[in-house]
Amino acid sequence: MSGIGKGITTASIGKILKSRGFRVTAMKIDPYLNVDAGTMNPTEHGEVFVTEDGMECDQDIGNYERFLDENIPRENYMTSGSVYQRVIERERNLEYDGKCVEVIPHIPEEVIGRLDRAAKKARADFVLVEIGGTVGEYQNALFLEAGRMMRLQRPGQVLFVLVSYLPVPKMIGEMKTKPTQYAVRSLNAVGIQPDIIIARSVVPIDEPRKRKISIFCNVAAGDVISAPDVNSIYEVPVNFEKDELGKRMLEKLGMKSRKRDLVSWRGFVGRIRRTKKPVHIGIVGKYFNTGDFMLADSYISVIEAVKHAAWFCGRKPEITWLNAEQYEKNPAHLKELKHYDGIIIPGGFGSRGVEGKISVIQFCRKNKIPFLGLCYGLQLAVIEFARNVAGLKRAHTTEVNAKTPHPVIHTLPEQMVNIKERRMGGSMRLGAYTCEIAKDTKAAKAYGVKLVTERHRHRYEVNNDFRERLEKKGLVVSGINPERNLVEIIELKGHPFFVGTQFHPEFKSRPLTPHPLFREFMKVAIR
Ligand code: GLN
Repeated sequence: MSGIGKGITTASIGKILKSRGFRVTAMKIDPYLNVDAGTMNPTEHGEVFVTEDGMECDQDIGNYERFLDENIPRENYMTSGSVYQRVIERERNLEYDGKCVEVIPHIPEEVIGRLDRAAKKARADFVLVEIGGTVGEYQNALFLEAGRMMRLQRPGQVLFVLVSYLPVPKMIGEMKTKPTQYAVRSLNAVGIQPDIIIARSVVPIDEPRKRKISIFCNVAAGDVISAPDVNSIYEVPVNFEKDELGKRMLEKLGMKSRKRDLVSWRGFVGRIRRTKKPVHIGIVGKYFNTGDFMLADSYISVIEAVKHAAWFCGRKPEITWLNAEQYEKNPAHLKELKHYDGIIIPGGFGSRGVEGKISVIQFCRKNKIPFLGLCYGLQLAVIEFARNVAGLKRAHTTEVNAKTPHPVIHTLPEQMVNIKERRMGGSMRLGAYTCEIAKDTKAAKAYGVKLVTERHRHRYEVNNDFRERLEKKGLVVSGINPERNLVEIIELKGHPFFVGTQFHPEFKSRPLTPHPLFREFMKVAIR
């Protein structure tokens, strides 16, 4: 089922194989019909991750990048929608030579073709393919079929790993293996026998239950890998190796490790465990609530970037979710922001919570609370500054108020057409663009270089018609895109740390190399 850690499992297996000297890449298959993840509400599907080459994809691609410390290209993400779209396109182009185009084999063949292309592009020894969804549901059946076909066509080259949840019901107090047995039966029904079973549970799986799974699910007991809940996801590769997962996988493929190098990763995991002194960061957003539950998945890369930076500075990250709308209903809540060492306003869309975020920004600016604004966070910081410092009382973004007399944030001309014709899928300013850093700024101090590239996902921009006016009042534009003269970073002088970015630095933060801006923000927050 979703949320038990298939993404982390995939990323961890990748990490292990890489540590054993192999070239690895990872792919995600999402079974829904959306062509990419860009059109989905983050409350429903979690964060939309953006690759260097501008693909809007599932958050798991972010996990792969963070664990493998490599950029994943757009080819490594597919949905049922994108696969069908391509097959139909090819049919329209007469590429099937007059044949009847059928779900089987043409859809699985398209999938297999993509796996091969990804392998080739990465020159990979291993391609890890994560199939989203649950065994037995209709939506992913064709992807399992692709896997089955591959194993048939390439004996000894394909392994199947099942990630299964073993509940420990409170009233029984015992770990139950039955759901795993049924999952394996369902897999068997589509012609697949798992080689390895990852036993996800709150606690480590014990020997009697390993034996039980072995007998009922037709795998060796040693191929049942313990995967208990952990404090930090980064412990998972280390845990898997306790059960010799890497060795077992390689043996099945008749291969040998080329080296063993998980040293720096183990060191990092050890550091995480040892840091006790906290740093308190508040994240102000709106994609939290699903029914009675709170969801942190919508901002997963931001959270991970905060953690990387905190651990780097020797602190334990304590992150609190702050709902933007509460500051609209009751401005008295603003005072509570003083309890945090730093505040982040991440990306967002639309009008809900916007005024709340703007009042949070004003509070951080006036009370000198370290502030980092990401994308919408930058845009709203510019609006706050325009309204409350530059005297443009009705300043706004045209995203929220199309008729504002002071559109300090507006669309680029090409985006007007997209919006008017409702061409919304995959049409934002996406992926990496260069940013030139201005001298003697906080950005310059953080990056230490003049030219950087950062990843984008937005339709709106700072309006250059207002730039001079805002700069005269003290807004510092510390990063611009040189090709099109677009504002990329803003900051304030005379404030310990007040920085906004039009891009999403969180996508480029890695466990052992935190993003420079998050790192600087964290240093100042701690101070
Ligand atoms: N809604 C804003 C835009 O489209 C910001 C997007 C974001 O925060 N990713 O420009």
